Formats: sequence, C-alpha cells, structure tokens
Amino acid sequence: MKKYYKQILLIAATHGDERIGIEVVNKLVEQKLDAYFDFLIANPKALEKNVRYIDSDLNRSYPGDIKSDLYEKKNAVNNIKIAKKYKYVIDLHEAKFGTKNFIIIPRNKLDIDLPLHFIKLDDILLWPDPKGPLGSCLKNTIELEFGMKDKERPIVINKAVDIVKVFIHSLYTQQNIEKSESNKKRVFMVYGKASVQEAEKYKMKFKDFQEIKIGTEDFIPLLVDQYRDIGIAFYKMRKISSGK
Ligand SMILES: [Zn+2]
Repeated sequence: MKKYYKQILLIAATHGDERIGIEVVNKLVEQKLDAYFDFLIANPKALEKNVRYIDSDLNRSYPGDIKSDLYEKKNAVNNIKIAKKYKYVIDLHEAKFGTKNFIIIPRNKLDIDLPLHFIKLDDILLWPDPKGPLGSCLKNTIELEFGMKDKERPIVINKAVDIVKVFIHSLYTQQNIEKSESNKKRVFMVYGKASVQEAEKYKMKFKDFQEIKIGTEDFIPLLVDQYRDIGIAFYKMRKISSGK
C-alpha cells in the first residue's frame, strides 16, 4: 500500500518547445520533493521534436477524442484520465516574449477547486476562450505562465521552483503565506485579441500589462509579439478586480 496519496500532479511540456516544466520537475526531484507530487509529460512527441505540437495544439484539444487521427486529440484523453486522479494539477508554461509571470484559469470565473492563495503570484488571468485547455474541463487545474523576455533563464526557473515549493509546503502544513501577499491578487479577464494587421494600423507601441486606449476601447495588452507567427499581435484583457 502507498504510504500516502500524492495530491499534486505537475504537468510539463503541454507545449513541446517549452522546457520549463521539465527543468522545474528536475530541480524538485533533486531536492527530493517528488515525495509530494507526480508529474506528467503531456506531449512527449512534441517535446522530443522540440516543437509546440505535432498535429494540433494540445492546449486546445481537451477533453480529446480517442478516435481522432490527430495525435494531441487522442493524447488528451489519456492525460485527462490521469489528471482526474489528483486533487490539484499545475500545468507549467513559458512565453518567450512574455514579460510577466501569472496564473491562467481558462474559465470565465474563479470557480475552481484549488487554493489560489497558496500560489505565490499576484496576477490571475481568466481566459475562457478559446476552449480546449485542460483547465477548461477540470476545476482542479491551473496553468502557470512564466515570461522569459529579457530575463535570465535560471532565475525564472528558480522562481517557478520556489512557487511550486511554497504550494507544496502550504498545502501539507496548511500554513498560509503572509496574508498581505494572498490578498494582493489582481484578476484580469482576457476577452479578445488584435491581429498583426490591425495592430500595425495604430502605429503605437504596445506593451504587456500597460493599459492603453484606442478610440473608445480601454484595454491591457498581453503577450505582445508572442504569437506573431500565427498573425496575432497581442491579446486584450481588462482588470476585473484589483485585489488589495
Ligand atoms: Zn505553453
């Protein structure tokens, strides 16, 4: 019989070209913290090829389809089966052109079954569209996105390791991190995007998390330049709660 039940599943390589999950897991294993979690390599084929995906974005493929010809659609079914066995699931991502670290909840409200006050990040992004992330199907799942732009990789990785360690520690001791920190969270709603064409018309400089007004629309740009290759200049969000 198992000594105790591991409550946490860490997910690495949902996107095969984002190695942060593997690096974080390796560091946690070195520190013998894998006594507290299991991990899942979500897209092993894409990881091996160092590409975002093979046939379709896994983060848009849940709940999946076992009969699909698309590798990710099929794989999603197995991943979700595993993720359902855990109380809490943390899916680790990185953004090459992202400047901030934040929690993504792919739903339209904060109705999840995971203690967010144990996650030492201040910004929560509700991101209900498009459908298909694991967290849109399971309430126990969040994504953590780490921005790599102008950052030293080892520092970002250590930050991510620290966040997971604090989560584990808080969970197993039920000790809250300082109240001030847990109350500081800001909540944003991602509601749209601007195409590269559209953004170029404005002849303006867009920056992550820097509010801007175009005509009558006030918004906060997100992941500027991250998805240029698929025609997206940035995503748009607005703040729905300022914490404090
Ligand atoms: Zn990702």
